[in-house]
Amino acid sequence: MQVLLEKHDQEFIRKKNRMLAFNSIQHHHPISRTDIAKLSGMSAATVGRVVADLIELGLVKETDQISGGVGRKATMLDLDLESIMTVGIEVDRNLTKAALVDLSGRIIAEKQQVVDQNGKQLDVLIDLIVHMVTEMAAEQGIPLSKFVGAGVGLPGIVDPDQGMVVFSAQLGWRNISFVKMLEAKLNMPVVLDNDLKVKALGESSFHSLDGIPAESITALVSIGSGLGTALIMDQKIYRGSRNIAGEIGHSIIDPNGKLCECGKRGCLQTYITDLALLQEANQIREVRSLQELFQYMEQGEPWARSIIDRACSYIAITINNVVCAYNPNHIILTGKFIEDHPEMFEAVKLKLQEFVGEHFSGSFEMFRSKLGERSVMIGAAKLVLQQQIDYGLVHK
Ligand SMILES: [Zn+2]
Repeated sequence: MQVLLEKHDQEFIRKKNRMLAFNSIQHHHPISRTDIAKLSGMSAATVGRVVADLIELGLVKETDQISGGVGRKATMLDLDLESIMTVGIEVDRNLTKAALVDLSGRIIAEKQQVVDQNGKQLDVLIDLIVHMVTEMAAEQGIPLSKFVGAGVGLPGIVDPDQGMVVFSAQLGWRNISFVKMLEAKLNMPVVLDNDLKVKALGESSFHSLDGIPAESITALVSIGSGLGTALIMDQKIYRGSRNIAGEIGHSIIDPNGKLCECGKRGCLQTYITDLALLQEANQIREVRSLQELFQYMEQGEPWARSIIDRACSYIAITINNVVCAYNPNHIILTGKFIEDHPEMFEAVKLKLQEFVGEHFSGSFEMFRSKLGERSVMIGAAKLVLQQQIDYGLVHK
């Protein structure tokens, strides 16, 4: 038993180190082995081993030697951009997006299409995705054999091991074998996860540009039509036992509060989502969109200011709760509420002084999204790459 455990640990650490080295190369290419060791804190021997893995996987190649500062020559490592491609897909209630993403995380081509899901048009959606991907690949002259897989991010509770959408209120789906259906027509491996979880994965890898914090914990907090969080630990999505870790929108803050779509009362999201804010606004006058509510605030309407101010308080409370539960060093604040109204980022930051305890307040840095509306596609593609780096060697 002990031996098995140790073996498992070794494999786990090697996978982690492989990803760490890959991230260093992805963000700093071309880079020498010595600099990877410096950036990541790994020993020279470990870097040597995991870089060999990455070269064997065909993801990384050695390039010309360049002179180091003291006259020594170092062999540089670069991404083998021609070797493989990935696909990133986002399925949302009204819009489906797909992108071809290269090894550096760059989008080569993207397409989007309005599709009203409504729980009925699953076949149409699958055909549409296949069409978008094959058309983009043809336009770019990239053979489909180069694609190692497609990652899909969508709202709802997802079982990534089974490739199932367990439940999605937004899409109107329950127990859908999405991966099986898409793989049958797309002819490449498909990985599936919750949209916020892949978004966090995409964002966290692009927030580590100035260094590779191996042990960092990144929490993504998203406010829009729903409220959710996602956590990245050791560069991996933290899932909990059933992949529902982070569903903080349904944490109860008032047992006598408003009724939530989940059937319980006083869930945190009943205070902050678009719908909750609009319902409150409509008690004063007719307001049809969040945009309109912000306009009223800008015109100096005190009731509009009060609603938005309170929303910022609840976002700060959410952040405080996330900090208490997970002690992240990075928090990425995202979602339509923040992205469409960037001034709200600063408003929430001010509120943190009030709602985050003094011993916790210096423990994290808060950022905006860097990838914006492309973050789910880029994160989903990253998930494919992670699988390739973790398991690709096994299949060789
Ligand atoms: Zn709820």
